[in-house]
Amino acid sequence: MHVTTTIKNTTPTGRAAQGWIQGIESIPTLPTVAGRLIEMALNETASANDIGAMVSMDPGLTAKLLKAVNSSSYGLRSEVSSVSHAISIIGRQSLRSLVLGISVFDTMKSGGGQSAAGTQETLWKHAVATAAAAQLIAESVGKVNSEEAYIAGLMHDIGKVTFNMLRPADYQLAIADAAENGRTDEFASEVRHCGIDHSELGGLLAARWALPSGIRASIQYHHDPAAGANEPTPIRRIVAITRAADIMAFRCGYPSIEGQRPPDLDKVTQDLLARVEDTTAVERVKSEVRKCAEVFRYGESVDPAIWQQRLYSANAELSKAFAQVAETQRVQQKSTELIIQTQKFLGERDLIALVLKEAVDKLGFDRAYFLQITDDQKSVVIQYFVSGDGRGTELLGKATSLVDPSIFSKPSPMALVRGQDATSNAILDMLNVKSAVITPIEHDRKIRCLFGTDRGAKSAAGDAAMVDMMIHQLFAPSFSLLLVNDRLFKRAQYLSITDVLTGIANRRHLLETFEQIADKAQATKLNFCVAMFDIDHFKKFNDECGHQAGDQVLHGVAQAIQQNCRSYDVVGRYGGEEFCVILPSTSLTVAQGIAERVRNAVEQFGKENATKVAGRVVTVSGGLAAFTPGEKHQSLLGRADAALYRAKQGGRNRVELCQEK
Ligand code: GH3
Ligand code: MG
Ligand code: MG
Repeated sequence: MHVTTTIKNTTPTGRAAQGWIQGIESIPTLPTVAGRLIEMALNETASANDIGAMVSMDPGLTAKLLKAVNSSSYGLRSEVSSVSHAISIIGRQSLRSLVLGISVFDTMKSGGGQSAAGTQETLWKHAVATAAAAQLIAESVGKVNSEEAYIAGLMHDIGKVTFNMLRPADYQLAIADAAENGRTDEFASEVRHCGIDHSELGGLLAARWALPSGIRASIQYHHDPAAGANEPTPIRRIVAITRAADIMAFRCGYPSIEGQRPPDLDKVTQDLLARVEDTTAVERVKSEVRKCAEVFRYGESVDPAIWQQRLYSANAELSKAFAQVAETQRVQQKSTELIIQTQKFLGERDLIALVLKEAVDKLGFDRAYFLQITDDQKSVVIQYFVSGDGRGTELLGKATSLVDPSIFSKPSPMALVRGQDATSNAILDMLNVKSAVITPIEHDRKIRCLFGTDRGAKSAAGDAAMVDMMIHQLFAPSFSLLLVNDRLFKRAQYLSITDVLTGIANRRHLLETFEQIADKAQATKLNFCVAMFDIDHFKKFNDECGHQAGDQVLHGVAQAIQQNCRSYDVVGRYGGEEFCVILPSTSLTVAQGIAERVRNAVEQFGKENATKVAGRVVTVSGGLAAFTPGEKHQSLLGRADAALYRAKQGGRNRVELCQEK
């Protein structure tokens, strides 16, 4: 026999929590780039290059990052104008904090139209201070990933931020209430006025953002670690650290609520704090807050991407009535991600086709198309076309005259219905339907393309067209992104062949070029050589002078090598501190001269920089080999490497040749 128990959500908290779950739908999701960065920050194998490449995909983020690096807190003399340069200067750790700070705060800030600005600023500072403190404590405790601790600290009070964004008036009442009744009553006041407490709400949000479990647990249990007693040890550790960091932030002068006193200390928290709290630690926390405050000044205009996010959430709110729209949002987000992720590999053409296919497959349109307005504004041409049943490709390339271009003056969705006007008629005739929904797409302040969909015979005016227009409103930004990202796309192309840290060719590009040069050498019977260079005792250098100085040296050595090769030599970063030069149409004797010049240039560079880096002179060893017809790159590079090994054995800072195969 089955016994069915119905649990009714009749407690005030239960009902309110349901309400909040719906409310949370209107909070923008964490931007894709920020989400990927959290993953990368926690993934030890992700290099500064990976992070840099990710950041470069978000122009808004890149701009803010450069602004931050150029701000006075880094005290640089010359202007930093590229992400790779920024990384070489501030290093991976600071890059991560800055970028995450920027993304997470932007997301919090973006919903805050109504929120109380003073409260928001207090919460921000508290978050940054807690993040910095959590990192310090994690470093001292060991065993805990300090990056994760930083993020946990940064996000631990996300519930309060959300109150302040979505229910600012209620939250102000809760704050006032708690101030009257003392700190212990904070949770009760929140439940009384907002229907849920900030830990529980934060937990819901963490689930929505699919945050890693350590971070989620810190958000949920930082006030009451006992409640998280069932979590595995590593997670309990990070919760305890977040709790201690929370209190340390209070003590450094950054409470989460103005005038509030920190809670009483338990033994674990006391011990954790005792490990780190001294004046330098307090100074470090304060400086992190100052640094962030400088970057996120209040009252500044918000960048367009954030407005776009706001628009999405407002739309989502509006369109709850239409079940279909939720799916649209998912597809739109996916296609945006798709665009960002695949732009490196696919051309714009393929991407437009992919986005159209998503519209047909997932949103149930019969057909989707992409029309281009000709430069003279006189006609429209069908550039891309996808139909659900695979028919209709004969429409590709069809054109019709644009009788009145001014009907497409705004980039917002519109329904074209037969009989409406001459332009609509011409387009509908060309498409052979009675009605369609079209969104003009703007680029460089001019309408250049139209995104369109129809539902074939079912095409209708009225309510159905309304829904389609709403879907367009959400979906069309994918196309804008494609067009606006044209510049970004070129940059991504550049990045795909360049090593971000050193600015020279990356390994993949190097090996591709190798094949081309080998083919040519085979055909022309001309010789060519490869040189491998490896920095001497670089591990020791890193250990003594730090990774940041190491990165700067890598950049300098790469530049020295490139500047001492010829314009047609291909210089690339082969691995960590290994460089490879392909010298086309060059004999071994000539190559030896060039390699010697390179070695000498690096030594000079090393001497010039020695005073800056604890007296160490950087040098390279080199190995050279000449191509023999038919040889594969593994073999030729292997022989150059063997020569390099002999140069190392022979005392380093020298070049050796591989005489025969
Ligand atoms: P050898 O003279 O025999 O080449 O000694 P080495 O220490 O240079 O060689 P080893 O291969 O043992 O160490 C290479 C070091 O290069 C280890 C690593 O710390 C450093 N390295 C590799 N990639 C990077 C990077 O991107 N940045 C920095 N700063 N260091 C790197
Ligand atoms: Mg080395
Ligand atoms: Mg090495």
